[in-house]
Amino acid sequence: SESARERGIAYYKPTRDSYSADRLTLVSELREALNNDDLALFMQPKQSLKTDRIVGVEVLIRWPGRATPIRPDEIIQLAEQTGLIKPLTRWVLEQSLALRSRLLEHGWPLNISINISPNNLREPDFPIFVQRLMNSHYSHRGSIIFEVTETSMMQDPENSLKTLNSLNTTGIPVSIDDFGSGYSSLSYIKQLPASEVKIDRSLVTDLATEAEDRVIVQTTIDMCQSLGYHVVAEGVEDQATADLLRDMGCDMIQGYLLTPPLPFDELLEWLANSDQ
Ligand code: C2E
Ligand code: CA
Ligand code: CA
Ligand code: CA
Repeated sequence: SESARERGIAYYKPTRDSYSADRLTLVSELREALNNDDLALFMQPKQSLKTDRIVGVEVLIRWPGRATPIRPDEIIQLAEQTGLIKPLTRWVLEQSLALRSRLLEHGWPLNISINISPNNLREPDFPIFVQRLMNSHYSHRGSIIFEVTETSMMQDPENSLKTLNSLNTTGIPVSIDDFGSGYSSLSYIKQLPASEVKIDRSLVTDLATEAEDRVIVQTTIDMCQSLGYHVVAEGVEDQATADLLRDMGCDMIQGYLLTPPLPFDELLEWLANSDQ
């Protein structure tokens, strides 16, 4: 497919100078977008390979209506560098609870997974904020999952562990995101109050053609399941890969094979047509 560059779309490029005029403008635009609810959440379904049912959705940030598109990971990086990640994640959480209520109204009792930045785990009042929110939305208890990457937690392992434990007691299941993409410490991972591991897309992409990747993924699935985690494979783009993962005993898949992330109304339409 035609790349954004070929279509003449100029993506914002982060500069080395964090105080450049462009960047300051962008930061204030992001702050404004956040205050005006101009950011959006798209949702990508997660399917069980055991039952074929859709069990949840992951919410992913988007910034529509911008002349110069910005990739989600760049939005997040910018937010992390400027302190905006604190209000941004809180906005994502509140929006997700509202989205889950709307899903329930339409007869879809799905879990919602949210990506949490390591910076959030370092906010002293983050657990209290989450606890208050979950207490006032009790019907969503256990159904809002926090995705954290192993690499991110290694910046401050002890504190991250403490925070995740306290969140877990407030009814927040934890999922280890991008597993296998960085340096993992298994002795650390096993202490985490996690119930799910998501195998990184880089290990999934070439599963059908690379025998080595199959060995790594099979070993990862077996090990994680032996430790009591459910295993999700992310970035599944074709049926051959999904079939392999099913044979390997993988619990769930996510990826373009099902659908790319969708805005709420399109997700409802997709679910209605998904033969559930
Ligand atoms: P992630 O958490 O690993 O999310 C998965 C990314 O892979 C998403 O990119 C998704 O659109 C993409 N993806 C899903 N299925 C496929 C597939 O089959 N093939 C390919 N090639 N890609 C697939 P997206 O939405 O651009 O987000 C990128 C990253 O930005 C996320 O990676 C996450 O780290 C971060 N992010 C996005 N939204 C949020 C948020 O609300 N908060 C935080 N803290 N981070 C976020
Ligand atoms: Ca994720
Ligand atoms: Ca991931
Ligand atoms: Ca990723």
